Amino acid sequence: MNLELGLVHRQVRETARRFAQNEAAPVARQYDEEGRFAGDLVGRMGELGFLGGPIPRPYGGAGLDYLVLVVTLEEVARADAGLASAITVHVGLNSLTLLQWGTEEQKRRFLPPQATGEKLACFGLTEPNAGTDVAATETIAVREGNGYRLNGTKTWITLAGVAEHLLIFATLDRGQRHRGLCAFIVERGCAGLSTEVIRGKMGFRLANEATVYLEDCVVPAENRLGEEGEGFAIAMSALDVGRLCSAAMAVGTAQACLDASIAYARQRETFGRPIGRRQLVQQMIANMVVGVEAARLLTYKAAAARNRGEPATREASLAKWFASDVAVQAALDAIQVHGAQGYASAFPVERHLRNAKAAQIYEGTNQVQQIMQAEFALGYRGVQPLRCMPPAPESVAGGSEVGFDVPSGDRSVRPSSAGCPRGLNMG
Ligand SMILES: Cc1cc2nc3c(=O)[nH]c(=O)nc-3n(C[C@H](O)[C@H](O)[C@H](O)COP(=O)(O)OP(=O)(O)OC[C@H]3O[C@@H](n4cnc5c(N)ncnc54)[C@H](O)[C@@H]3O)c2cc1C
Repeated sequence: MNLELGLVHRQVRETARRFAQNEAAPVARQYDEEGRFAGDLVGRMGELGFLGGPIPRPYGGAGLDYLVLVVTLEEVARADAGLASAITVHVGLNSLTLLQWGTEEQKRRFLPPQATGEKLACFGLTEPNAGTDVAATETIAVREGNGYRLNGTKTWITLAGVAEHLLIFATLDRGQRHRGLCAFIVERGCAGLSTEVIRGKMGFRLANEATVYLEDCVVPAENRLGEEGEGFAIAMSALDVGRLCSAAMAVGTAQACLDASIAYARQRETFGRPIGRRQLVQQMIANMVVGVEAARLLTYKAAAARNRGEPATREASLAKWFASDVAVQAALDAIQVHGAQGYASAFPVERHLRNAKAAQIYEGTNQVQQIMQAEFALGYRGVQPLRCMPPAPESVAGGSEVGFDVPSGDRSVRPSSAGCPRGLNMG
């Protein structure tokens, strides 16, 4: 297994690193303190191509691979994971789900403006009474003529306050539990759709979490994603990518905590010597080193499985669980290394802790990931083939026309009609 990053991965990482260091990090503290959604930085990420990286060129993206997505997320999360979550949700949970399950017409219509960031998109699964228990979804969809009438409430939906395209999961029959679920692309402007931004969050203050109200919202049948009753499979397949992205963000957060701790421990002196010379401080830094390295390897392994066209359900869940726990512990230790300074916002480590905690909750709580891992190990759970398997990326050697700094000699991406293959319906 080759663990080296390729030329394009390194170039994209450098672009993302420059953006994070020069544009995001300098304002992150102020935005966090004001609880201000970083819409301007999300727009800039669109200009840089971060919102279309893995989307094939025919749909306006760059056709790059999952490892490119991972290194981009890592670098942006080093500045702020809440900012990086816009990529996770817009690209990982929405655009790549449309790419996997959408009809050709849906992909041609919705993906190009999403790939450039002209229109933002979100993923609306969670409800006030249905988080972990997705099958308890109460949002109801009633067939009506050539469309569906939606009623219900979604909550904690990242980007929902600003998204133009909302991927909404609703039930056609509550008695059918998860088999009754169906996915819809709801467009902003649809009568009966309204959103309300959630205030008072512990972290993710640069992000935009909102509650979505659907009151007699009529969605045309051509906006249904997948078949009736396929909503649960679509949601779970989206979460495979979401967990890979969450793992990458957690690696970035943990790396930022390690970087800050090393810098501080080298210059802060007690008893005439830098605290970096104290073995108990070294122990915290050593724990961060092994945590970051192991979390990154699990994350890259999951990305490699996605690059082979596998769902990577087990790998992404493992990476998300491990990396998010590593990030929380790294942030706690980083605060300890900084002493009282770490307890205030002048240094970024307390913000990293508040952000890191969210990753133990979203995309399935870490309790859910542990149950999944045990069930995989015990043989109670396997990966079932889907009607629409995730399309493998076009190329890992290609460049982009949407902003990545790739030399012209490397622009060798092959166009592809990646999408839903026929004949894999396992019923
Ligand atoms: C910052 C942030 C962003 C988010 N963004 C999105 C988004 O974009 N889209 C979206 O749809 N959702 C989003 N969410 C919601 C998130 O996915 C849910 O919060 C999560 O799935 C947990 O659901 P819940 O909060 O209802 O907790 P519950 O399901 O009520 O769980 C509460 C506790 O009980 C535990 N628990 C529940 N059932 C079991 C069980 N069977 N066995 C063991 N323990 C169990 C859980 O692990 C947890 O500790 C976001 C959340 C946050 C914090």
